[in-house]
Amino acid sequence: MDGNSSLYPIVFDNHVHLRKDGFFKDAVKRFIVSGGNAFNLVNLPDYGIAPSEYYERLYSNTLEIADAVRREFGITVLVTLGPYPLDYFFFERALIEPAKAMKKGIDVAARFVMEGKAHAIGEVGRPHFPVSDDILKISEDIFEYAIMSSKDLGKPVIMHTEDLTEKSHRDLIEFARETGMDPRKLVKHHALPADFEIRDQMTLSTLASRSNVRVAASSDRDFLLETDYVDDRSKPDKVIPIDSVPKRAIMIKSEYDDWERILETAFIRMPAFLYGNELFNL
Ligand SMILES: [Zn+2]
Repeated sequence: MDGNSSLYPIVFDNHVHLRKDGFFKDAVKRFIVSGGNAFNLVNLPDYGIAPSEYYERLYSNTLEIADAVRREFGITVLVTLGPYPLDYFFFERALIEPAKAMKKGIDVAARFVMEGKAHAIGEVGRPHFPVSDDILKISEDIFEYAIMSSKDLGKPVIMHTEDLTEKSHRDLIEFARETGMDPRKLVKHHALPADFEIRDQMTLSTLASRSNVRVAASSDRDFLLETDYVDDRSKPDKVIPIDSVPKRAIMIKSEYDDWERILETAFIRMPAFLYGNELFNL
């Protein structure tokens, strides 16, 4: 499928979820027809899987989806694997110690990264809503384990967190530095306009809404674009539609004089730095 190939050589969505019983290939077609040709596939929780074999099965399903898309459409699909912060409650309900299960989930993800089947650890972090101090402490411990694991792998960590403050930015950067990790490999998923005001090295990946793109494009920070597409047939376009990144690329091209710099940064330079040149045939 050729689609709108003249838009830009690479049009990359940094955060996509797909499920086999969702819109799946139809969603991919819609992305491609709009001009998209590369994305980062992040595993989506599936609490229908038995807790005892949770991550093995979840990751295998995600890798199967990535393979099916590459085979059928020939586009670049990167894969991010890791325990979602809310998995905590899934294991707690099953009377399984969350920290132990989720750290094991990070180890399994790391194995797939080492085998070259996955390219980042995520989305890991903290629940995005207030939780008890105990749960917060355990979540932080798991999060730190994920950051250390990413550091060892030399790969980025895709972070799902509450809205970050200047202090939480600082704490995360400091922790990354302590472990010896390049803080640019900390990728804040769902970065908000407030994140763009903080001057540090954290990588920002922002939802490709018109208003976010305007804030991001007029800031002096580099950024990636994402949809966080959730692929739920009962809630189409739950976050924003799958074709939002190509549509915003068209918007950037028509509204910004330095559109080439913006698109090159978001679609080529940043993804290649984070995930590896070879993945984009550069
Ligand atoms: Zn997500």
